[in-house]
Amino acid sequence: MKNFLFGKDIVSIDSLSKEHVELIFEKTREMAELVKKKDGDRRLEGKIITTAFFEPSTRTYSSFVAAAQRLGAGIIPLNGMTNTSVAKGESFEHTIKVLSRYSNCLVVRHPEPGKPAEAAGFVDIPVINAGDGINEHPTQGLFDTYTIRQYFGKIDGLTVVMVGDLKNGRTVHSLTKTLVKMGKLTLIYVAPGVLRMPNDVRNTVVEMGGRFDEVENLASVISLADVVYMTRVQKERFLDHTEYERLKDYYVLDKSLLHKVKKNALIMHPLPIAGEITSEVDSDSRAIYLTQELSNGLYLRMALLDLLLLQGRK
Ligand code: ASP
Repeated sequence: MKNFLFGKDIVSIDSLSKEHVELIFEKTREMAELVKKKDGDRRLEGKIITTAFFEPSTRTYSSFVAAAQRLGAGIIPLNGMTNTSVAKGESFEHTIKVLSRYSNCLVVRHPEPGKPAEAAGFVDIPVINAGDGINEHPTQGLFDTYTIRQYFGKIDGLTVVMVGDLKNGRTVHSLTKTLVKMGKLTLIYVAPGVLRMPNDVRNTVVEMGGRFDEVENLASVISLADVVYMTRVQKERFLDHTEYERLKDYYVLDKSLLHKVKKNALIMHPLPIAGEITSEVDSDSRAIYLTQELSNGLYLRMALLDLLLLQGRK
């Protein structure tokens, strides 16, 4: 397959075609094999990746660092900007331009929607969106879709139930967009009225020929799910703390609710969990948020670095 992702930015799922996603998935499989066989190789030797993270992160940050290192790249590891010139008042544009001079690829996380796309306009090296505020988290959406398809062998006909803060949770925006691009499925959005899935994402589902339902009661739909995708109420997006306190435990997946979930379903979560899944669920064989989801995140990020930075037929 031709590598039509060479030199490109990954700032939103919107800019990826189905063929792009297939290419990324094929490369992800190759990376999984590579890591299992020999931990990685040196194909990105001489390249430098910068993680420009303006917002906290554990998994996304460390998996990008691991992805770069497993392929032999160097890394400028910025996780938080308190020790950089941003703290002295440097503009976003200047920070991004400076970092681009030392690197072959920028991985940008920012609390404000649209910042990674803005960064891509300032520089001529590939920019990857590692989460922009309440907007998108494309790499998470990609590897979660990869994980679902790997397990079921298809997307068509599945029922995916997304639960929690669908308004502010960027992962469910990117996941929805990726899933409807890759197949015909049923989405069930479970959220309190004030945390509903945003209009633009719901419109995308309809435009792509998908279908969705919206309900408030998790217990009434959980037994329909092939995938239960739980999310955290996004505390950092709330101006009113009492409103957050009111909503934070709206849905809790515990042992009693787990009994209603299909035997061969998947229970997923982008992490961190802040009370919406009880720890007794962690060891259930259907729960993959501490296992496959994490490994696939690494493989997919390795795949993206390879595709964006190395030319040639893949
Ligand atoms: N880690 C995910 C994100 O960065 C999910 C979350 O924080 O709740 O969006």
